[in-house]
Amino acid sequence: MKDQLLELKMKALKELESVSERSDLEKLRQQYLGRKGLLALLLKKLTALPKEERPVIGKLANQVKEELHKQFQFVSDSLTAKAVESESAFDVTLPGRRIPLGHLHPITKTTEEICTIFSTLGFRVVEGPEVELDYYNFEALNMPKDHPARDIQDTFYVSDTVVLRTHTSPMQIRIMESQSPPVSIIAPGKVYRPDSDVSHTPMFHQVEGLLVDKGITFGDLKGTLTTFIHQIFAHDTKLRFRTGFFPFTEPSAEVDIQCVICKGAGCRTCSYTGWIEILGSGMVDPEVFKAVGYDPENVSGFAFGMGVERIAMLKSGLDDIRLFFENDIRFLQQF
Ligand SMILES: [Zn+2]
Repeated sequence: MKDQLLELKMKALKELESVSERSDLEKLRQQYLGRKGLLALLLKKLTALPKEERPVIGKLANQVKEELHKQFQFVSDSLTAKAVESESAFDVTLPGRRIPLGHLHPITKTTEEICTIFSTLGFRVVEGPEVELDYYNFEALNMPKDHPARDIQDTFYVSDTVVLRTHTSPMQIRIMESQSPPVSIIAPGKVYRPDSDVSHTPMFHQVEGLLVDKGITFGDLKGTLTTFIHQIFAHDTKLRFRTGFFPFTEPSAEVDIQCVICKGAGCRTCSYTGWIEILGSGMVDPEVFKAVGYDPENVSGFAFGMGVERIAMLKSGLDDIRLFFENDIRFLQQF
């Protein structure tokens, strides 16, 4: 029995020497010192010994048990120390992994930039529905059902009387219906037309502007839009007002800026004219004032509208509008 105890101790100590994992240590502890372990099994035989031998062997068994407990604890402690040491082997001065930060979409950024410029000029930003009544999208803007101008604006119809708005101009009507003059608003938002090529997408963004008060003239229109263009592009950008036609303004003017790519020399982007159309504008047609109950004898005003994508493209030198909506992260990260 004595020999068996000593042999068990030697075997346990030897196996402990090769332990390097905590899980192995626990297994070994169960194997030798567990309730059904080798030492416990051996001690069960104690009762079979002659009475006078029991105290001696019992004492020895306790010594072995204590010694093994101590040794297991020692190995356990050194494993803990090793783990701590290897953790602190990390170089804490190394830079951390950067969490990639998102940023605003170039269209959102350009819209915000446009809104900021007009806000400083005293315009209030308003927003309206993208699913719009035919009445607001066309009729109240001086485009009755048979008006030829409807043909140039292909339209997504939801029903006979409901459309996806083809422009942000319905906001002119909604605002004038809801308040009396003076009015000075800009309305940014999504608009829809069934078109798709390098310069058209079925959904795009516009910013509409409207200013109505007593004694507003074409000179105010020119001054406001010139200030805007000089702020959104360069302060020496050359521009020109060219006669145009819109059903809801009279007279109407389209505004061109000198091509930002070729500086007027002529290139593919400007179709070799040196000029690029940037927005449409005009004095509010008296028919529109009548539709909202304003007296055209008493007030006058101007309205304008521009495509946000067009401005974003010119500012960044892009030539394909579809890039904005493909959501290619490599493209978007360049902004
Ligand atoms: Zn050009």
